Amino acid sequence: MSHLSHSSTSVADGTVSSISNIETTSDTAQLLSNEEASTSNYTQLNKSVNFEDSDDDEFHGSHGIRRRQPQQKIEPGSMNVLSAKYESLDYDTCENHLLLDEERKRGYAYIVWKDMARWFIILLIGIITALIAFIIDICIEEFSNIKYRELKKSVDKYVVQDKLYIPYLLWVLSNICIVFIGSMLVAYVEPVAAGSGIPQVKCYLNGVKVPRVVRIKTLIVKAIGVITAVVGGLAGGKEGPMIHSGAVVAAGISQGKSTTFNNDFKIFQYFREDHEKRDFVSAGAAAGVSAAFGAPIGGVLFSLEEGTSFWNQALTWRTFFGTVVSTFTLNCALSAYHGRAGELSFPGLLNLGKMEPFPFQFYELPVFMFFGVVGGLLGALWNYINYRLAVFRIRYIGTPWLRVVEACLVAAASATCGFLMMFLLNDCRPLGEDPTKVPLQLFCADGEYNALAAIWFQTPEASVRSFLHDPIGSYKPWSILTFVVCYFLLSAWTFGLAVSSGLFIPNLLTGAAWGRLLAIVIQAMLPSNTINPAKYALIGAAAQLGGVVRMTISLTVIIIETTGQISNALPIIITLVVAKWTGDFFNEGIYDIHIQLAGVPLLPWEPPPLAHNIYASEVMSHPVFTLRTVENVGHVVELLKLVSYNGFPVVDPPLADDVEVTTYKRLRGMILRSQLIVLIQNKIYNENANTTWSNFNVDMNMFRKEYPRYPSIDKLDVAEWEKTCTIDLRPFMNPSPYTLPHRASLPRLFRLFRALGLRHLPIVNDVNEVVGMVTRKDIARYRVWRHRGHMGMEELILSSE
Ligand code: ATP
Repeated sequence: MSHLSHSSTSVADGTVSSISNIETTSDTAQLLSNEEASTSNYTQLNKSVNFEDSDDDEFHGSHGIRRRQPQQKIEPGSMNVLSAKYESLDYDTCENHLLLDEERKRGYAYIVWKDMARWFIILLIGIITALIAFIIDICIEEFSNIKYRELKKSVDKYVVQDKLYIPYLLWVLSNICIVFIGSMLVAYVEPVAAGSGIPQVKCYLNGVKVPRVVRIKTLIVKAIGVITAVVGGLAGGKEGPMIHSGAVVAAGISQGKSTTFNNDFKIFQYFREDHEKRDFVSAGAAAGVSAAFGAPIGGVLFSLEEGTSFWNQALTWRTFFGTVVSTFTLNCALSAYHGRAGELSFPGLLNLGKMEPFPFQFYELPVFMFFGVVGGLLGALWNYINYRLAVFRIRYIGTPWLRVVEACLVAAASATCGFLMMFLLNDCRPLGEDPTKVPLQLFCADGEYNALAAIWFQTPEASVRSFLHDPIGSYKPWSILTFVVCYFLLSAWTFGLAVSSGLFIPNLLTGAAWGRLLAIVIQAMLPSNTINPAKYALIGAAAQLGGVVRMTISLTVIIIETTGQISNALPIIITLVVAKWTGDFFNEGIYDIHIQLAGVPLLPWEPPPLAHNIYASEVMSHPVFTLRTVENVGHVVELLKLVSYNGFPVVDPPLADDVEVTTYKRLRGMILRSQLIVLIQNKIYNENANTTWSNFNVDMNMFRKEYPRYPSIDKLDVAEWEKTCTIDLRPFMNPSPYTLPHRASLPRLFRLFRALGLRHLPIVNDVNEVVGMVTRKDIARYRVWRHRGHMGMEELILSSE
């Protein structure tokens, strides 16, 4: 998507270039003469910013903002570029004549009906998300059992013949084959299904359309992908992908149609708009969390903390209903499957086993803080390694087949790590103490089994349970240390591969392992006290995960709900807060790192600090491409072909005696590209400029029918004679768009955008004439950076790709 950009810096083909504009519709000088120069100096950012050279490759602009040198080439994988390919969601309702007409005709019964439909949809979202979680869980469990049972048979058979390389090769081969299937699907069919999907869902909830993220195809690839990734022995989990799956389910059901399968069920048409769809997606993501962790409150808080920028009370209540339905349905299904239908003892996919409340002493609080610091440091290191790998992938592993090869390599490496550890570290323990399904004897004496083999010969989730619940002497410290190093590196390598898998479980596993290791150390230091390893393993797991993802509120609640012990809340909160602070000292959370690498214009919670001296006149684009209230069809078509902007201010037509084409025009409304396309597609225009729109039998459904994939302007068939017709935009435009004066500050712009979920904000002068345009990307360009206690603001570059 290439934009004609004016005041903002544009990058094409990796280098900064200025693109000329087709027509000038405004005259900066006019405004300057009206206003104080200090607040309306439009030219400041483009032309008269007084950059100073600095030691490194950046400039420091007039507001102490870090900027890149304009001629500097942008490396692939750069963190300070915003990609133009991401469009925004329109959370603001367009209150045009059609909407008012619809409301008038349908009355209050329609409102009640819509509300009931909303609850019904949430119910469906909860049930279907849970059923998907159930299928994924059962598949993973059954396939894993078969795989490890066969491998165990092979090990038992060949260990006596001294031919252990045979089971090793079998293990490697089975991993590669299984991962190959999922990886091929991700790499060739739907790349957006890679990873956990949490960064993408976070962007969507924040108001950014990530292409293809909530499509049914993505869901299918994701579900198969996550099964193959976990069964294939990768250091990944199924919990993150569940959140993405919930979001896709919500987006699909709420629209009553499938664009992928070209199927319109002609229901829920009134929810076919960004505002409604995004609300359902937040409920779906929450239902996904709830199914993944058996944490209904954690699910609601996750949606709130991780993404949803525009939130209201009704949405909270509905979302909570969805999460409760989801966890209840999953519980019923899993309990029935495990033959304990009446017990309802499987609330989520992640089952950490029954945790006892662990009493703690006052003097232990610093110990929990210490765990937080370790988690923060290890989390920051994990993020750094994963970030370097992600950049390497962007630069050198670009083609799908290379990505598949890499995934297979990691699958082989995972098996090799496990095998070497089992082979080299002979950590034996008596049979009967561990609930492992496939105890391997290997080189242990009769009646014993290899403790490390038990960890590797099961799903990572079952391994977390082992580290949490096994008695203190179950593992040798060296075995745990080797495992921590191996799994830490493997999990950092795995996240970002072309497979669908999450990072919750691998990090919980690494954390539980080093937590247990520290428990052994503490026990050695305090031999008189009996240490509860479960306590430290759980705190370690929370610290490691918190250090990586940097979530606090929702993660605390998720862990409390998963372990079912509210009395453990204080240690967990302390640990997570310290882990976040420690990690934030070095880098961002892993999701934010991936979002920045993708160049997504995400708006954070708060506006940049010390930015009250940056004015709308410096942030906005100008001149603005506008349309007149009654516009010539040919002109609209030409404009849509020429620029790829998605919104155009609608202004008064010039007066008959107005010979000056470059003057500002008074704002009358805002119209979207999608609306214009539907109007042209349905030929809602007149041969005569004086004919009004009431000649047409038009209602909101005309627009809803096309939502969300509108045809491109090049696909529309407009005859030459039609180009001389006119469109009356007044009934279709939003007649009261939010606007701000050009002297408004950046924090004010930010708050308006963030709180209302805006897509376009026309900037006006004192007489309501359009002088500029601000979109999400203009604001997201200003980003705060923090590094090792230092802080500042940098201005990102808007790339054309
Ligand atoms: P979005 O992509 O968020 O859905 P959009 O495509 O309309 O919205 P952006 O891609 O965010 O707009 O805009 C890129 C740049 O173009 C921004 O700097 C913005 O200010 C500018 N811009 C957007 N619309 C117009 C317009 N009608 N006239 C002039 N500049 C515009």
